Amino acid sequence: MAKPEPNHLTRQIVIAMLAGIVLGVSLNQLGTASWIQLFVIDGVLQVVGSVFVAALKMMVVPLVFVSLVVGVTALSDLKALGRIGIKALSLYLATTAIAVIIALTLAGMVGPGEGFDAGSTAASFSGKEAPPLTQVLINLMPTNPVSAMAEGNMLQIIVFALLFGMAVTMSGARGKHVLNFFSDLDVVIMHMVEWIMRLAPYGVFALITRTFATQGLDLLLPLAAYFLTLTVALAIQLFGTYPLLLRLLGSLNPLTFLKKMRDPAAFAFSTASSGATIPVTLHTVEHKMGVKNSIAAFTVPMGATINMDGTAMMQGVATVFIANVYGIDLSMTDYLLVVLTATLASVGTAAVPGVGLVTLTMVLGQVGLPVEGIALIIGVDRLLDMMRTTVNVTGDCAISCIVAKSEHALDQSVFNDPDAGSTESDTRHSILTSPSP
Ligand code: ASP
Repeated sequence: MAKPEPNHLTRQIVIAMLAGIVLGVSLNQLGTASWIQLFVIDGVLQVVGSVFVAALKMMVVPLVFVSLVVGVTALSDLKALGRIGIKALSLYLATTAIAVIIALTLAGMVGPGEGFDAGSTAASFSGKEAPPLTQVLINLMPTNPVSAMAEGNMLQIIVFALLFGMAVTMSGARGKHVLNFFSDLDVVIMHMVEWIMRLAPYGVFALITRTFATQGLDLLLPLAAYFLTLTVALAIQLFGTYPLLLRLLGSLNPLTFLKKMRDPAAFAFSTASSGATIPVTLHTVEHKMGVKNSIAAFTVPMGATINMDGTAMMQGVATVFIANVYGIDLSMTDYLLVVLTATLASVGTAAVPGVGLVTLTMVLGQVGLPVEGIALIIGVDRLLDMMRTTVNVTGDCAISCIVAKSEHALDQSVFNDPDAGSTESDTRHSILTSPSP
């Protein structure tokens, strides 16, 4: 494979994404011959896109586990771990609450759904019960780490990796052997992630073209007010809240941060899954933004699992939209309940496509709105899912940088270097700096 120039790959990914949007929308608008549908859209594009997402997902569990074990052993003491955990958790919850408040304020001003004809959509939706909080807490502890890994249960994997990493640190010389092995394994796994990243332009192109070719944009028109309100809310969070927090809490340049977000943003947008994007998020946060592995290995998978600001925003705007459609007035208490439940629902939302709509049932239930209302917005959800996942992932990266900065674990020279983290130089660096056997 030819050596990519720094940022060459990022440019290719962005071009692939734009080309996919143009081609997909054109295919959708022009109408496709049945052979194009069969062999191109449901054939080549589906295979390439699905294999690409599967390859990304393949790396998530080994990467998170190994990287977290190595990360924990690099921490000076258990107190540091607790401090980082509390900082990350508080910031994740706070940014989600801010996100819902922005979404509700904007939706309150625009009033999406007023005068909407609910008869114009035929889709249906039935909700699912949310597990009680006690069960959520019990479920944090894996009964079997192998099955936690097999199921990709991120929080259980994090708990096991933290305990395992602590035990490695406390096991003296024997632990050191294990650590050396894990450090080497970490480098090997990162190599595999870099292979997948080099294939990203093809994967992203296939995913985006297929989505836009199959998603009728005509559905957008009746829901334009809902769609646009949410889009603006997401943009405020992306270009307002995060930059402000980076500047105020981390004294970091928001423009540099946003430029470095291009890779994970493109992956998040095309896969609509923060979970599948974890390998790229982790790579970016560590190698492009200069966050030490001991912080990133913890905050990134944790964020991907519990921090979903974009999802919570969708739930805020959707609640106001559905209330307006059904002509139900929301009181101030209802609004507060929405902030609280949407924040908690985002913690319980799995990092895969479309789950935000399922946990929306919790929010609607809290304020007594009909769950069937979700059927009204299903048609445009895929596109919004792509956008909100991009915001979810950006939030994870921003908080990781802020926590790292406060722990003096962010290498400012890497953060400021526009070419940091290009895959080739990175691999050499990680191999050179890994402990020898
Ligand atoms: N797709 C989102 C994510 O993976 C979750 C959702 O909002 O459905 O972050």
